[in-house]
Amino acid sequence: MTPSTMRAVVYDQPREFTVKEVPLRDPEPGEVRLKVVQGGVCGTDLHLHEGGFITSYPLTPGHENVGTVEALGDGVDSFRVGELVAVNPNTTCGKCPACRSGDRLYCPSFGGWGTLKPGGFADYLIVPEEQVFSAEGLDPDVAVFAEPAACAVHGIEILQPRPGTTALVFGTGPTGLLLAQLLASSGAAHVTVASIAEPQLRRAEELGLDSAYLMVRGRLDDDIAELAKRGDGGFDYVIDATGVAQVQERTVELARSGGTVLLYGVAHEDDRIAISPYEVFRRELTIRGSFAEIDTVPAALAALRSGRIRTDGLITHRFGLDDYGAAMDAVRSDDSAHKVVMTP
Ligand SMILES: [Zn+2]
Ligand SMILES: [Zn+2]
Repeated sequence: MTPSTMRAVVYDQPREFTVKEVPLRDPEPGEVRLKVVQGGVCGTDLHLHEGGFITSYPLTPGHENVGTVEALGDGVDSFRVGELVAVNPNTTCGKCPACRSGDRLYCPSFGGWGTLKPGGFADYLIVPEEQVFSAEGLDPDVAVFAEPAACAVHGIEILQPRPGTTALVFGTGPTGLLLAQLLASSGAAHVTVASIAEPQLRRAEELGLDSAYLMVRGRLDDDIAELAKRGDGGFDYVIDATGVAQVQERTVELARSGGTVLLYGVAHEDDRIAISPYEVFRRELTIRGSFAEIDTVPAALAALRSGRIRTDGLITHRFGLDDYGAAMDAVRSDDSAHKVVMTP
């Protein structure tokens, strides 16, 4: 018997959340109700906590979920009860010019479960069938990376890396390391990751990335100088996976002439950085953004299944729903934390 209420993390306004009983409804036609196995907490959830990114209230966050199918709405025939599935939390309006020309990521109504609609930091999650992907046979500790891995796949779609190139990735958070691994398997001859978090760098080495560079808080100039030396004329791809404006500002000078800078980490909306337009012009640099994901979950699950993207050792912390505040603290400021997951 399914209960008529469930527990969920609920924000009524920025920075103010409670964990409480909320009504649990049946799935409507075309919908799937999942019993949440676990869900990843990520930097975006910290932005949501502050009222940033794409939000409306009341909000239940949680956009990186894996669960088991618990009930099927009328007409749902691609899943069976008990099946392990991952969720693509993102959706668009389907009607605007961007959606109708296949550029769904640019939809002004982009959003979804865990941002605009109730997400998975709850006992149950209800989503339309088309947002659900079978993760049968995958360990839930691997499948929980489906959404961040989909963001990494999209980053690769944006970069279209050429064989034999070099890449520098700032930031060794989970999504940064997923992207770095895909760069390596997409033909980059050498991938360097740079971060202030030593345990994460060690994990990057365990995952097979070529070089790990430990940055020191407050010594950015020295670190940039050292990385420039290692880049030996610049990296073909310089990727920011930190979302930290001071770091993003230094990406351009580390790119090889003709190279590409990718802004992949989530910055604050009011951040501004200073770069030299002359340098971009003279050295024919490309600056690109990579925003979220919309149709790359199947590719992500395939890469997770084959081991092309490895996640072993990435989950370091697990919290119950009641400890959502502690989970966010871990993501925010615990250098020993890597992937933090919520387990209802
Ligand atoms: Zn995320
Ligand atoms: Zn649209």
